Amino acid sequence: MKKHNFSAGPSILAREVIEKTAQAVLDFNGSTLSILEISHRSKDFEAVIEEARQLFKELLNIPEGYSVLFLGGGASMQFCMVPFNLLETKAAYLNTGVWANKAMKEAKGFGEVVEVASSKDANYTFIPKDFVIPADADYLHITTNNTIYGTELRKDLDSPIPLVADMSSDIFSRPVDISKYAIIYGGAQKNLAPAGLAFVIIKDSILGKVSRYIPTMLNYKTHITEGSMFNTPPVLPIYSALETLRWLKSNGGIQAMEKKNLAKAELLYNTIDSSKMFVGTAAKEDRSIMNVCFVMKPAYKELEADFLKFAVAAGMDGIKGHRSVGGFRASIYNAMPIESVQALVDCMMAFEKQNA
Ligand SMILES: *Cc1c(COP(=O)(O)O)cnc(C)c1O
Repeated sequence: MKKHNFSAGPSILAREVIEKTAQAVLDFNGSTLSILEISHRSKDFEAVIEEARQLFKELLNIPEGYSVLFLGGGASMQFCMVPFNLLETKAAYLNTGVWANKAMKEAKGFGEVVEVASSKDANYTFIPKDFVIPADADYLHITTNNTIYGTELRKDLDSPIPLVADMSSDIFSRPVDISKYAIIYGGAQKNLAPAGLAFVIIKDSILGKVSRYIPTMLNYKTHITEGSMFNTPPVLPIYSALETLRWLKSNGGIQAMEKKNLAKAELLYNTIDSSKMFVGTAAKEDRSIMNVCFVMKPAYKELEADFLKFAVAAGMDGIKGHRSVGGFRASIYNAMPIESVQALVDCMMAFEKQNA
């Protein structure tokens, strides 16, 4: 039976990306050697990282003056690298969930942290708006897509101070005005590559303003100067990232991706909104087009476990909701075809017909 992969992360990659990665593991570029056993300083790997960097810039339309870094440590390492490199006295954070909290916690080790707004009291079901950004803070940190709650800030904010964004789970899902950001970072394992890699898009001129010593490996300048090759980078995830970037380009780039993503999200949200049984958990105006969270209405609450079994039996993988939200979460990242979303919709409608 065909499985539909709705996993939140690590998550679905284009089949073609997985096949090409597997091929490079067996025989990289016809060399008869595996990409796992050659030097990261070999010509062939240098070409991989260079093309990945160039495609990042091309697809996201990254202006001059920005660098693209490929680092280990995942997004969580960036929770500490950002304040280590940018926080001199005070930083502002928008609290939109678990990941934002983890970022905030790290920043507190480096200076004062101002929480500009929070939707914690509503279990993060919406993105706070109309908050005041302190003009004297070193930067404002936001999480554009809240993977756990299915909320998303899909408009690029205007910030009077440097804007830092965790885009782990929505990078490449929509066009972004990079010039509005000082740093965009994320773990690769949601929309780009296997786990073990973080990407960082950084405005070079933002650096050099803090007075503390920054350890070499945690200093963005090191990785800018060394082209992400100060030490051995995560070579295999970088190779997969390159294949995803090639796949994005040959499928019409980010505009085309956004169009498909909007269609997939609309199909699923329309089904939820017209259902007697299911209801979405996120505020409508803040709904994510990457992670769709829904639960059973109170009258049907006891059927949640049955639906999960029904859906799993129909090939729906990874739709159990995060423990802090409950119910269901369908992650419908770039690589997910609309046919899989349709299969989930059919499954929901069939269950409702049987049970409502
Ligand atoms: C998954 C996720 C993270 C954590 O990423 P790691 O690479 O595991 O550290 C951080 N932020 C967001 C928004 C995420 O979805």
